[in-house]
Amino acid sequence: MKAAVFYGQKNLKVEEIDLPPLKQGEILVKVKACGICGTDVHIFSGEEGSAKVTHPVILGHEFCGEVVETKSSLFKIGDKVSIDPNIYCGVCKFCRSGKIQLCENLLALGVNLNGGFAEYAVVPEKQAIVFEDISFEEAALAEPLACCLHGIEKLEIKATDKVLIIGLGPIGLIMLEILKLYGVYNLYGYEIDDFRKEVAKGQGIKDIIEESTDERFDIVIECAGTKESIEMAFEKLEKGGQLLVFSVPSPKTNVLINPFEMFKKEAKVYWSFVNPFTQKLAIELLESKKINLKHLITHKISLKELSQALNKRYEKQLKVIVQP
Ligand SMILES: [Zn+2]
Ligand SMILES: [Zn+2]
Repeated sequence: MKAAVFYGQKNLKVEEIDLPPLKQGEILVKVKACGICGTDVHIFSGEEGSAKVTHPVILGHEFCGEVVETKSSLFKIGDKVSIDPNIYCGVCKFCRSGKIQLCENLLALGVNLNGGFAEYAVVPEKQAIVFEDISFEEAALAEPLACCLHGIEKLEIKATDKVLIIGLGPIGLIMLEILKLYGVYNLYGYEIDDFRKEVAKGQGIKDIIEESTDERFDIVIECAGTKESIEMAFEKLEKGGQLLVFSVPSPKTNVLINPFEMFKKEAKVYWSFVNPFTQKLAIELLESKKINLKHLITHKISLKELSQALNKRYEKQLKVIVQP
């Protein structure tokens, strides 16, 4: 099969490779769509992923496809499946206490096990969820949606809360859709890209704030990942407010916050890591049309174009989907 194999920093080659035979409890998935995540871009440029990257490896953790071979009684050939890439050991102290996402032995398809930037992927049965009523491109968005659901579940959200989303790329725009589901209508954004501003306004963002504004927000969701954006998120928080730092900044990023200011605000601050127990919910929300993410898909590319897509952002880009 054809696969985009990652050999380390900025080194990705589309090659013909052999598929390993399936083991008991595994399925072979013909990959139909695999989204490019910010994490893929980080890994490609030499940084860490959610788990430590072991190359050579096939990246791509936001994928779905069709079962073409099975050594699992749970699936039949032709099933459409969404893949949860994160594999937990089940026995470490975090797994045993229900915080599986903090697993000491976390493995992830597309990070340290072969993932979805290939024609086929071998997937352990417990990582696959059957879906029916949505397109493959939409189903590829289930993983980032699941991550956002995990983050947003940490907040206590009231429909009347005034909310600021910093960074209106794919993640910020997914957050927006979830907040609408909670009935939130006082939705504000911060973004510099004109195209993203327009999309966000079309989807219900009331206004794009200026960095210098004195306005404060009950909830701030930070999805941009720079020193400046994270510092801004703390600053724009209202007294008694809640902040979710959702972005994945560079491991080298440090920020300056004023703890005295946060003390006076009695701020609640949360971080969020991957998608424990939320992938199935994400699929259900997409299937029931409670959440629609079609507008996020701006580019569909082939494996051959992947290297280029990881190197630079296209014009008017939100989500790029690879169709191997
Ligand atoms: Zn991701
Ligand atoms: Zn574990």
